[in-house]
Amino acid sequence: NDNCLANLEKLDVIGLGNSGTVYKVRHKKNGEIYALKVLRFRENKEGLQQQALREAEFLRRVVDSRFVVMCHGVFENGGFEESDGSSSGDVCFLLEYMERGSLHDLLRKRQKLPEDYVSIIARSVLQGLQYLHGMQIVHRDIKPSNLLINSKGEVKIADFGVSKVANNNSNKEYLNNSYMGTCAYMSPERIDPEKWDGNSCYGYEGDVWSIGVVVMECCMGRFPLISEDEKPDWVTLMCSICFEEKKLEMPETDASIELRNFVGRCLVRDWRERATVEELLSHPFLIKFQNHSLPSFFTCVSNYS
Ligand code: ATP
Ligand code: MG
Repeated sequence: NDNCLANLEKLDVIGLGNSGTVYKVRHKKNGEIYALKVLRFRENKEGLQQQALREAEFLRRVVDSRFVVMCHGVFENGGFEESDGSSSGDVCFLLEYMERGSLHDLLRKRQKLPEDYVSIIARSVLQGLQYLHGMQIVHRDIKPSNLLINSKGEVKIADFGVSKVANNNSNKEYLNNSYMGTCAYMSPERIDPEKWDGNSCYGYEGDVWSIGVVVMECCMGRFPLISEDEKPDWVTLMCSICFEEKKLEMPETDASIELRNFVGRCLVRDWRERATVEELLSHPFLIKFQNHSLPSFFTCVSNYS
């Protein structure tokens, strides 16, 4: 296999996640640039290994969507060498390189994004979810740092670290995995499975909730569920997501009716009443900008400088 680790030259670190390091690498034979995500087991063996194998399983299943970051190879026990020469117990994913980094990086730089950009981003993410959900994959970690942008201005979903196959498993199984990662973008029924009320909940609705939070964040230029002068406190945040009566919505200023309605349809606390991916794909907020694409200057900002 030409895609073996020995053929990859490490160029830069482009991402540090909870579970590992992402490098920019060059293929020595064909000169192509890729991202290599390296997960290490040394620190937290059991949990991380399980997570890595799960991620590998999902990456292998995802093969042809323009809206999901492609994987060109998975290396178990890869041993991608570290600067100190050690190399044990890694799993590596060779990924399509997304030059402009994540939506998180972009928001940090530009703060607020105009509605037409946000509409384009939302459409790509929804198309990515339509693909994943069609394969019975629930992503479960839709947030700005997992949405990547390339130099063509395409937006794609990445990071299957906490994804799962949709099924109506018992709450117990669901709970085991649900607190990995941040809860900031999590839906009420993921934080509190009591909300299923004896109904089977496959989890697709949770991804829709997360899109609502991301869209709001893009338009407001900050994480929207905590007010600006409040100190972030997870317990308070989780309580307000799950139990508050007040509807979560965009502030009236500076937001079109279509945008406010879109966000409102995502952030419905009762998962049974929430919009589906299909409904949102034909929502006026997407239709309004359907002929737009991300402008060229948007894609000319280098992120890793
Ligand atoms: P976290 O636990 O923080 O979500 P993670 O360890 O699961 O992170 P990823 O989310 O896959 O790792 O990647 C971490 C960061 O690395 C991303 O936010 C992004 O900035 C960068 N990154 C990941 N994959 C790519 C890629 N294919 N192209 C360019 N940058 C990438
Ligand atoms: Mg991530």
